[in-house]
Amino acid sequence: MQSFICARDLRGTVLDEQLGHFNIGDTTLKIRFWGTRGSIPAPGPDTAKYGGNTTCVEVRLEDGTLIIFDAGTGIRKLGLALMNEKFTQNINLVLTHSHWDHIQGFPFFAPANDPKMKINIFGCPPTFDKLKKIMTDQMESKYFPINFKDLKANITFREIDTSAQYLGSARLHFLELNHPGFAYGFKLVEKSRAMALLTDNELLPPAHAVTDWNAFVDFCKNVDVLVHDAMWTDTELKEKAGWGHSSVTQVIQLALQANVRRNLILSHHDPEHSDKMLDLLSLDCQKKINGRANGLKCAIAKEGDEIIF
Ligand SMILES: [Zn+2]
Ligand SMILES: [Zn+2]
Repeated sequence: MQSFICARDLRGTVLDEQLGHFNIGDTTLKIRFWGTRGSIPAPGPDTAKYGGNTTCVEVRLEDGTLIIFDAGTGIRKLGLALMNEKFTQNINLVLTHSHWDHIQGFPFFAPANDPKMKINIFGCPPTFDKLKKIMTDQMESKYFPINFKDLKANITFREIDTSAQYLGSARLHFLELNHPGFAYGFKLVEKSRAMALLTDNELLPPAHAVTDWNAFVDFCKNVDVLVHDAMWTDTELKEKAGWGHSSVTQVIQLALQANVRRNLILSHHDPEHSDKMLDLLSLDCQKKINGRANGLKCAIAKEGDEIIF
């Protein structure tokens, strides 16, 4: 089976070119992007290509387990797709943190209001209670017409088991990120393949680092796919140091040092970054990688894109 990244529309029709392929045997783990923007939705003609919805990433494991990372506005369309698919298994929603752009789509997630659905919402231990409260508070009547407790699905909050958390056939690992408030990065390891998702992370913060550079390198070591916050250029980062995000150059450095094997995906795009600018960042990223990593492909996370490996 080949590994590829391509763009599809919401009915699954292939729209774009194949960007890379690898022959790694009979494996299937699917990652699909439903929201790739950071901070605030940014719809409009300038962002139509890469999308304006905030963070939401769907993962399907080989055994069919569904894992959703974050409930930014992209989760609305994922919810509709699951309803159309008549999906009946448990939905596992793993939250990186509680900033608006990572939770604000949840009230519009159609499966949450379907009595046939069972949803597990996972949070990391040190901040689990806080996260649970924020998720329910955002649906108080002063913010939203339907209360969390009136949702019809069977919804359970689950604290991630620090010793060994499994979701279906994959083990879930986590790492605290450098981000105001709190945020966690995740790694899924299923058989011989692995993906890491670190959104909202300042790799080299100006002051105290909760997690240092070497710990990030270890966490991402030899993963097949790394999805990382690359919100800013180096120039922008100079003005926004301490805000909790990384530059494209830093993320490339991490991918090279950690020996990421197949795909480096830059995500959590600044709302002011147009499609044109992201196209340029993509070319620049690939140029910086060429000759320094064997077969590593760089791409900009785009709504509707899938990676299968
Ligand atoms: Zn964010
Ligand atoms: Zn954040």
